[in-house]
Amino acid sequence: RDYLARIDALNPQLNAFITVDHDGALAAADAADAARAAGQACALTGVPFAHKDVFVTEGLLTTCGSKMLGNFVGPYDAHVVSQCRQAGLVMLGKTNMDEFAMGSSNENSAFGAVKNPWDVKAIPGGSSGGSAAAVAAGLVPAATGTDTGGSIRQPASHCGITGIKPTYGTVSRYGMVAYASSLDQGGPMARTAEDCALLLNVMAGFDARDSTCLDRAKEDYTRSLNHPVAGLTIGLPKEFFAAGLSADVARVIDAAVAQFKALGAKIVEVSLPKTELSIPAYYVIAPAEASSNLSRYDGARYGHRAAQYKDLTDMYERSRAEGFGAEVKRRILVGTYVLSHGYYDAYYIQAQKIRRLIAEDFQAAFQQCDFILGPVAPTAAFNLGEKSDDPVQMYLSDIYTLAVNLAGLPGMSLPAGFADNGRPVGVQLIGNYFSEAAMLGAAHQFQ
Ligand code: GLN
Repeated sequence: RDYLARIDALNPQLNAFITVDHDGALAAADAADAARAAGQACALTGVPFAHKDVFVTEGLLTTCGSKMLGNFVGPYDAHVVSQCRQAGLVMLGKTNMDEFAMGSSNENSAFGAVKNPWDVKAIPGGSSGGSAAAVAAGLVPAATGTDTGGSIRQPASHCGITGIKPTYGTVSRYGMVAYASSLDQGGPMARTAEDCALLLNVMAGFDARDSTCLDRAKEDYTRSLNHPVAGLTIGLPKEFFAAGLSADVARVIDAAVAQFKALGAKIVEVSLPKTELSIPAYYVIAPAEASSNLSRYDGARYGHRAAQYKDLTDMYERSRAEGFGAEVKRRILVGTYVLSHGYYDAYYIQAQKIRRLIAEDFQAAFQQCDFILGPVAPTAAFNLGEKSDDPVQMYLSDIYTLAVNLAGLPGMSLPAGFADNGRPVGVQLIGNYFSEAAMLGAAHQFQ
């Protein structure tokens, strides 16, 4: 009730929630109390919580930040949603996001921009900006996010919270509205690495309904929280500290490196030579997959349908023209172009080759270190409106996060300090496949 009251008081200004489910939350809280009284509580039973509005929730609106799904009430729960429900987490509502998770500032939401609670002139980051702002403002202790090219890590960094994108295939994508299926991965956003570990225990695990979900034994992500950092080798990729990184973010990252060193980590320089190519590769592959995934929104099956149309083709065209926002249309156009006959080899296939080289760069770097450390974004949160007219500038700010998704690796952001303007700055850790437990441990020791 306290959290619901806080949402009612602060959400009108922050716009972090698209839907608040008062009745459902109170019923879930009663059920959690009953479970606790019956001695059936697990670690997270009764903890208030929110889902990014990309996760389908049975009987509750799931908009994905789009007018296209502005009236869509899910007929089933996403795998992550049912896992969280079974663990007794009390969902208070669905958080705002960039439309179809396309964006880095949350300004692409059909439901309006989210404000950064540290400074309401600033963006909260995107696309999981609603979840990040909600956790940072204390509207919920934790929330889900999804990360296709940085959408958990970058808003976590800009809002001063902790978020982890697991190894691709760790968290089922069943019921998670698809943006770019070979990159999309759900994960937790919370105050601390310890909270993220507890949540990942609930979210991760095999689900046969997602063909890319990995059939691995269930693991306990809290198991390494108390492992010392001493003995770990941390690699600093020189390309992450080159031109383009702002001086105040560099200062915060340097201090984080010094802290890891003080904890006993060995620091080495590594190289990820293809870093710059992650931007063109990602912004070919992600729109290509999006253009295919978003073809399902035709006005016929579900979602927005134009009120008036002449014939079937006209209905498709009007429904899509009205339902999608400008950035989504831009990505559909780019994606359709790079997949078209005559351009496929030159763009899409080329990008896939670069993707493999990027993954190989990481494997070479992990010969020399246990974890890679670097910035999450080149600057702290910029002002609302500052980059909204310049999509390429917005894409360039994803330079440090995209390669992790292209390679399918786990990565996380943890709060590390503040920029000169007082806005939070996170530090990024990148690990090899399935190193989440050890990475959360290093983060916990740092915190
Ligand atoms: N900013 C990137 C994009 O716009 C990443 C978004 C995401 O991770 N969902 O595609």
